[in-house]
Amino acid sequence: MHWADVVAEKLAEKAREHVLATAITPSGPIHVGNLREVMTTEAIYRALKDRGMKAKLIYIGDTFDPLRKVYPFLPESYKEHVGKPLAEIPCPCSEHENYAMHFLEPFLASLKEIGVEPEVHLAHEMYGKGIYNEAIRVALDNAEKIRDIMNDVANRNLPATWMPFNVKCDACGRLDGEIREYEYPYASYKCKTCGHEGSIDLRKGGVGKLPWRVDWPARWKIFGVTFEAFGKDHAAAGSSWDTGKIIAKEIYGYDPPMPLVYEFIHLKGKGAMHGSTGVAVAAEEVLKMLPPEVLRFLFMKYEPNRHIEFDTGFGLLDLVDEYDKYERVYFGIEEAEAGMKDVRRVYELSQPHTTPKRAANLPSYRHLAVVAQIGRSFEEVVAILQRKQKLDEYDIERLRQRYEKILYWLDKYAPEAIKFKLHYEKPDIELSEGEKKFLKELLRNFHAIEWDAEKIHSTIHETAKQINFPAKKAFECIYKIFLAKKQGPRAGYFLQSLGKDFVVKRIKEFVE
Ligand SMILES: [Zn+2]
Ligand SMILES: [Zn+2]
Repeated sequence: MHWADVVAEKLAEKAREHVLATAITPSGPIHVGNLREVMTTEAIYRALKDRGMKAKLIYIGDTFDPLRKVYPFLPESYKEHVGKPLAEIPCPCSEHENYAMHFLEPFLASLKEIGVEPEVHLAHEMYGKGIYNEAIRVALDNAEKIRDIMNDVANRNLPATWMPFNVKCDACGRLDGEIREYEYPYASYKCKTCGHEGSIDLRKGGVGKLPWRVDWPARWKIFGVTFEAFGKDHAAAGSSWDTGKIIAKEIYGYDPPMPLVYEFIHLKGKGAMHGSTGVAVAAEEVLKMLPPEVLRFLFMKYEPNRHIEFDTGFGLLDLVDEYDKYERVYFGIEEAEAGMKDVRRVYELSQPHTTPKRAANLPSYRHLAVVAQIGRSFEEVVAILQRKQKLDEYDIERLRQRYEKILYWLDKYAPEAIKFKLHYEKPDIELSEGEKKFLKELLRNFHAIEWDAEKIHSTIHETAKQINFPAKKAFECIYKIFLAKKQGPRAGYFLQSLGKDFVVKRIKEFVE
């Protein structure tokens, strides 16, 4: 059984209705690692619905969290905003409502593209509307108990004056006000940053924020959350999950949701993805080079506790080719290979919307990367591919999407080894006598063969052998006359894609 169905089955045993929550602090670009949380939860949401259960998927944008520091991607001028709620800081590009939306908007658009449409709640609005007010009162009334839980479970050393609420300072706008005196509904505070002293009426919304470790269990109760996935940083001993589940039970009288801990995503060669360190690829960036179903596939294929290494280089091509293999197995065109698990379910859960009616007849992503550099337009690319395989309207539609994405990949991420620039006119290079002899012989042999990648490849080898010309030099000579350099893509596929007429004409230009 697929992992999402396993979790759904466990949830179904507990209750008939479920609220699945997912949340991200939009303090920087929301990356593929963050996406794992949403995708994992959404798969379980789908699995519940497929069992006929009632389920709701909510997404909470932590827009009321303070800016922690000036991240590497921010100008120094953001120093004055450290400590202020993200929704009250200006957006870096000046085109969004605020700092939080600058990062949230593109992420929500990406979610839509991969078929995830949760009910979205923004924390600064929830606080502003007073939705947290009751939870804040309960927390403050139980400040001592919460402090003890934090000190015992999280090994903190909080002073007796500590209160579980950060007041938004009236003078500087930072969430740095510490409560001095509290008697519901009033509290007085002193700002630890600017020293301002003031007082608040807790019946008003947005006057401050619960610290994360209390905010989390409070929202479980507010939304009736029954399931939540989180990264392993929240799950270590003494973590926010450890304190959260006790605070939920003892302070809020609420049973904590069923947890699921997921592994981080690593960026190949760079380590775990973190928005704050810059080791990350934003979700919207990945969707510019990968079809949405393939991005979903990455998360559906591996169990959430499996480590994923995301590779924007050649690994990206392999990922698409692997997806295509699953598609062909799903439709019974090919047999499953060893290691392929839950093919049906993985394929279905990888679809952003409905499951296709049939497999597309597409070239491999790797081959497309080569053809996309030969054809000068989408139409030329289609024409090149159609010399070898029949493409109908459906294939061409799917190909069009992939073509756009592979161009982006070639431009921004592709390793140099796969990149080339085809000379449509004879390049200005000199060949040796040996090379000319080889090309003459090759021309004669090419006339006789069917224009097929493997036949082309073996003919190059055989021709070189016939005249005792080193194979390495033979291939270099071929790349030289088309690319004006000594390396290029696999010669068989490359020449096949160029077309026999073009290849013959170019060789003649050099030998006649
Ligand atoms: Zn912006
Ligand atoms: Zn202040």
